[in-house]
Amino acid sequence: MSTSSIPAAAPGRVLATLNEDGTRRWIRPRPSPGGFLRWRRAVAYLLMLVFLVIPYLRMGGRPLVLLDLPRREFTLFGTVFLATDMLLLMLLLVGTVFAVFLLTALAGRVWCGWACPQTVYMEFLFRPIERLFEGGRSGSLQLDRERWGGFLNGRRLAKNGVYLVLSLFLAHTFLAYFVGVDQLEVWVRRSPLDHPTSFIVMAGTTALILFDFGWFREQTCLVACPYGRIQSVLLDRESLIVAYDYNRGEPRTKGRAKAEGSGDCIDCSACVTTCPTGIDIRDGLQMECIHCTQCADACDDIMRRVDRPTGLIRYSSRDALEGVPGRKLRPRVVLYPAALALSFGGFLVALNGRAPADVTVLRGLGEPYVIEADGRVANQLRVKIANRTNVARRYAISVDGVETGTVIAPDNPLPVDAGNTEVTTLFIMLPRSAFHDGEKQVTVRVDDGGGYTDRVSYRLVGPETEHDDHDRTRDGEPR
Ligand code: SF4
Ligand code: SF4
Repeated sequence: MSTSSIPAAAPGRVLATLNEDGTRRWIRPRPSPGGFLRWRRAVAYLLMLVFLVIPYLRMGGRPLVLLDLPRREFTLFGTVFLATDMLLLMLLLVGTVFAVFLLTALAGRVWCGWACPQTVYMEFLFRPIERLFEGGRSGSLQLDRERWGGFLNGRRLAKNGVYLVLSLFLAHTFLAYFVGVDQLEVWVRRSPLDHPTSFIVMAGTTALILFDFGWFREQTCLVACPYGRIQSVLLDRESLIVAYDYNRGEPRTKGRAKAEGSGDCIDCSACVTTCPTGIDIRDGLQMECIHCTQCADACDDIMRRVDRPTGLIRYSSRDALEGVPGRKLRPRVVLYPAALALSFGGFLVALNGRAPADVTVLRGLGEPYVIEADGRVANQLRVKIANRTNVARRYAISVDGVETGTVIAPDNPLPVDAGNTEVTTLFIMLPRSAFHDGEKQVTVRVDDGGGYTDRVSYRLVGPETEHDDHDRTRDGEPR
């Protein structure tokens, strides 16, 4: 940066949301109509609609998105990912991170300003409601000066009542992503006493949303969001940013009339009063700037009124603002797409090669084995089958290596719905002589009837000697 373009640091400021005595500085931004606002509003309402309807959408008979944490099953675009698909999910996550890196390198914090739920709901739902109830920015500032920050004022109480209802609604929508709309409907219809845990989860989520949009607000972006804090690493001098053209605007001079040698900025502070994070963009690129373009709209409006060209605050890059020619090739816009292609490519290959079922064989609960009344050794197994296909299947279960024994499988074949998981129990009875050193290796074979067979090796356990002291009958009594 050339020395002529280094903005002066704001005196005495710690955080935009704090006064110098440490008290909260409430940000009451004045909305600035303009071209960017129209587009952002359209994008915001579209995103709200998408967020609302996604839990209701289905693909291939499965929910479009369902993040079933208790069952450790994620459904994305109708495809089920189980706990055993951790590699796939990791590749997807890494690919998403690189996509964010690339987007930031190219377009700056476009996510923060245009699409982040925090910005979308705060600027296009909660703040407009606040202005409606409290009489705009001046009305809110007036209430802030009242006793207890105007908390007991009827208009503010009414606004908070609406906030509560909205938070409740958003909490239900949010939790639909984790429990599904059918389960959510059950929760809504039944008394909270029938499902106290889920009621507490719902109440907690509502309280968090209300706290965030009602009180914490822009501080989420300033102090809690990790993305904002790593901007200095993700942006380079050619990344697109919302920036004040320091060389054109300075030296700023108050008033419409342009004095000899003065810049275009008339120091009207319109860009400051509209900023939802309470900063002055003229201080240069700041971590608090979410690139929402509100200051660009505000300044364009002022420029039109004073008959000066718009774009004093605009999308640009640090190099472009300083007249530095751009590089032909920026390392990060080559490396990020390469890493992105590797991650998503790996994900697609692994997804394609994934088996249509996931079979897990576990030892039964209780004693590792029991001795039956006829002297045979019984092992109890649990066979867990996850059907990853989009059609219901019946899985035939058989065991290789038990020719001298008996297999009892109460649910065989085991029916499993599309995308679901079922567990069944197997009992394998073998003579003592089948065990060597207390072990017997067998293979559990699962056939889906559609051409897919999975084989899982399993070690049965039994007495180590002919008269093992640890022999147990089925009742647990020593023999
Ligand atoms: S400085 Fe401008 S772009 Fe940045 S957050 Fe404030 S209003 Fe939005
Ligand atoms: S809105 Fe434009 S003219 Fe007014 S203070 Fe900001 S940069 Fe200067």
